[in-house]
Amino acid sequence: MKDTFSRKINYMRISITDLCNLRCQYCMPAEGVYKKQHKDMISLDEIVEVVKAGAEEGITKIRITGGEPLVKKGIIELIEKINAIDGIKDIALTTNGLLLKSMGKDLKKAGLNRLNISIDSLKPNRYKEITRGGNVYEVLDGIQEVLRLNMKPIKLNVVVIGGYNEDELYDFASLTLKDAIDVRFIELMPIGEASNWSKERFISNEEVRKRIGNLIPLEREPSSPAQYFKLPNALGRVGFIDPISSHFCNSCNRIRLTSDGKLKPCLHSQQEVDVMDVIRNNSSDIKSKLKEAILLKPEKHYLYTDEHIIGNRNMSEIGG
Ligand code: SAM
Ligand code: SF4
Repeated sequence: MKDTFSRKINYMRISITDLCNLRCQYCMPAEGVYKKQHKDMISLDEIVEVVKAGAEEGITKIRITGGEPLVKKGIIELIEKINAIDGIKDIALTTNGLLLKSMGKDLKKAGLNRLNISIDSLKPNRYKEITRGGNVYEVLDGIQEVLRLNMKPIKLNVVVIGGYNEDELYDFASLTLKDAIDVRFIELMPIGEASNWSKERFISNEEVRKRIGNLIPLEREPSSPAQYFKLPNALGRVGFIDPISSHFCNSCNRIRLTSDGKLKPCLHSQQEVDVMDVIRNNSSDIKSKLKEAILLKPEKHYLYTDEHIIGNRNMSEIGG
């Protein structure tokens, strides 16, 4: 499937729940998200229907995200079912990692290997503060478990926040020295809770690169939003995802499915296409809804410009 700017769309990111076992300050309000009624959320079987239709239209790669996907009952069966769909070549998960120690084995058995684990501080008190209660040792244990299980690739995602974790940049980068993992720095985006944060909290990745220093550039992978570097003698890589300072919209290959069953052409646009409604009424229309959403993809996002409209969704509903 191609959009109106001739971009080939083969990647679907699915938020399977908007609920979470953390309350990261930039992502969710302290009280968590309002719990919607069960009937208003897309079910795991309905997600499988959307993925089947997507696969027939050229979707080959799926990312499961949330909220926190590992708190969703039935996640292992969902991964097994998606893995069995003809045409799906790649399935990945984005998680805060808290439950990986206990669930790693089952995830691997279900056919999952690619993992992105979000961790914004290595300091226990700081991690607890930004996540409003999380225990960083549980995440670190989870990372060790998936390394032990030989799951790969493993990518750690770090959102850099001014005045918060900017003194830990090298500590994060140096995790790549002893383990074959990628550590990726992500620019803070003005979405959800962070949409009201001051601009001082935003640090460009160019600045992060400068502060880490000593990074050897690697060849860019065409479909990856990250630009990769290596510290000398490192086993893993250090990546930079710059959605703000040098957006990668011209190579965007993705479409999103929200936890309440809406297709979202772009993370930053307000347009949505209701696919849950057609599944519940006439599932043969899923493909036409997918096409409709893909044709609505904007050429690029307008963050930090006059044309940007602040949305009313938290990142946990869309999945990041
Ligand atoms: N709970 C899982 C996790 O934290 O990895 C998956 C969902 S979370 C919404 C997905 C990613 O979005 C996380 O890496 C998180 O750090 C990122 N994220 C949330 N709000 C963000 C913001 N305003 N700017 C940049 N990244 C953000
Ligand atoms: Fe939960 Fe992930 Fe949002 Fe943190 S970033 S509150 S872990 S959904």
